[in-house]
Amino acid sequence: MHKYLTIILFALMVGCATWSCSNNAKRIKNVKIVSHEKLDSVGPHCRILIQPYDDFSHNKALDVSKQLERALNEHMKGLTVTEVQVMPNRPLTEGLMNNAKTRYRASKILDQQQGMIKQPGDVVIGLTDKDISTSVHGYEDWGILGLSYLNKSNCVISTFRVKDKSQFWKVVLHEFGHGYLGLPHCPNNDSSCFMVDANGKPNLPPERHFCDSCARYIPK
Ligand SMILES: [Zn+2]
Ligand SMILES: [Zn+2]
Repeated sequence: MHKYLTIILFALMVGCATWSCSNNAKRIKNVKIVSHEKLDSVGPHCRILIQPYDDFSHNKALDVSKQLERALNEHMKGLTVTEVQVMPNRPLTEGLMNNAKTRYRASKILDQQQGMIKQPGDVVIGLTDKDISTSVHGYEDWGILGLSYLNKSNCVISTFRVKDKSQFWKVVLHEFGHGYLGLPHCPNNDSSCFMVDANGKPNLPPERHFCDSCARYIPK
């Protein structure tokens, strides 16, 4: 039975290829403060841990966290964010690279980040300016924007392939949808939906929303 469950879990894993799918920890303004004893009564909740890598700017990480908070407030009103915390920068070590030492393997970063999840509701979001890759579309080492596994509350996102950096937060929200809510790619293939698989196109439309099909699974 356990083996069967494991197979199902692996089948649920999703690679999100390119939508082809200061170093002091700083706590930023909380969206809502809820004591942990009360969490069960307030429904879906999460604590977001932002992990910047190498020289990813602390201010940029703060901007991303604020943009994500705004988006969650707007598009996931039923979700309570108890805390958002930007962690001290960490290095991406050589052991996290692909065999050719040209990119970092997103799955290795996720494996490392998994240890940061300390309590139910924790979500870890790694941020890097370096190129990251995974095995997808028949390629062993395919450059991607971000990677998360469904319902693992653990994702890593790279700015490297994002043409319009002001739209980077949309990739973060997309991966949050995979990782925290377990949302698959948009079943309607709606190009204006946050959960669409852009199949290698790094251009993100200026306006986005969750389409009706994807919105059904979002806490309201
Ligand atoms: Zn995706
Ligand atoms: Zn959709």
